[in-house]
Amino acid sequence: MSFFEVMDPVFATYVLGNAPVKRLATGFDWTEGPVWFGDAGCLLFSDIPNNRIVRWNEEGVTTYRQPSNYANGHTRDRQGRLISCEHGTRRVTRTEWDGSITVIADSYQGKRLNSPNDVIVAPDDAIWFSDPHYGIMTDYEGSKAEQELPCTVYRVSPAGGIEAVITDMQAPNGLVFSPDGNRLYVADTGRMFSSDPQHIRVFDMVDGCPVNGRIFHVITSGCADGMRADSDGNLWSSAADGVHCIAPDGHLMGKILVPELVSNLCFGGHAKHRLFITATTSIYSVVLNRRGIQTP
Ligand code: MG
Repeated sequence: MSFFEVMDPVFATYVLGNAPVKRLATGFDWTEGPVWFGDAGCLLFSDIPNNRIVRWNEEGVTTYRQPSNYANGHTRDRQGRLISCEHGTRRVTRTEWDGSITVIADSYQGKRLNSPNDVIVAPDDAIWFSDPHYGIMTDYEGSKAEQELPCTVYRVSPAGGIEAVITDMQAPNGLVFSPDGNRLYVADTGRMFSSDPQHIRVFDMVDGCPVNGRIFHVITSGCADGMRADSDGNLWSSAADGVHCIAPDGHLMGKILVPELVSNLCFGGHAKHRLFITATTSIYSVVLNRRGIQTP
């Protein structure tokens, strides 16, 4: 069986015929939020229903943090610190070098956030995160609670001010900047009804603001959740059947087939050429002939 599906011949040059999609670890319930720490040679990721952050390295998996406050998405800032979205505490936090936790955001205009889902750091060091309602819908990935705010993308400035920057999406989820910082992509996963959006929107970044939001690509297998970009500006998106590679003009170039529903991904490895994939009960990786934009 091939690990890849090629729609655009260019995609065939991105993959290696003899590099497998390899399952690195399994036995989790819902994996999410992979983030690569090259300096430590490890991957951190969330196992959300089990309320823990797991560390993987070539020797195996260990628990990094439990309870994790039902953490979901993670990234690193330019100082290398871990930035985390937490469903249980409905906040975004930073783990400082000494291990202490700093709250980046937990409310907007006096109301509690819903359940921050995914997070990125902008070229100006602002922290952008999505705040859909998934973590407060049930007690499975957090605690069931009333929604106080609409589903929104927020920006937290380096000085700490929070502003709502995207307010017209049903349920913003994964987000990523293009390598040049001129574009922002945001996945909309809606309310999980089949009639809901299954698309990725793209925004032009003008003076630090996302404008001209429009549909960039409609995912045809499930919906897009976590996403990353490579050094040429291609978008690598999670989907139900694997990871989809989408060109900057929006066309699907190819797929990495993964046997479980994919939630998120990140580039890592010594050359940023290894794609780590969180997929339902497992994590996978595949080495590509392509270099990713490592977080941030
Ligand atoms: Mg997500």
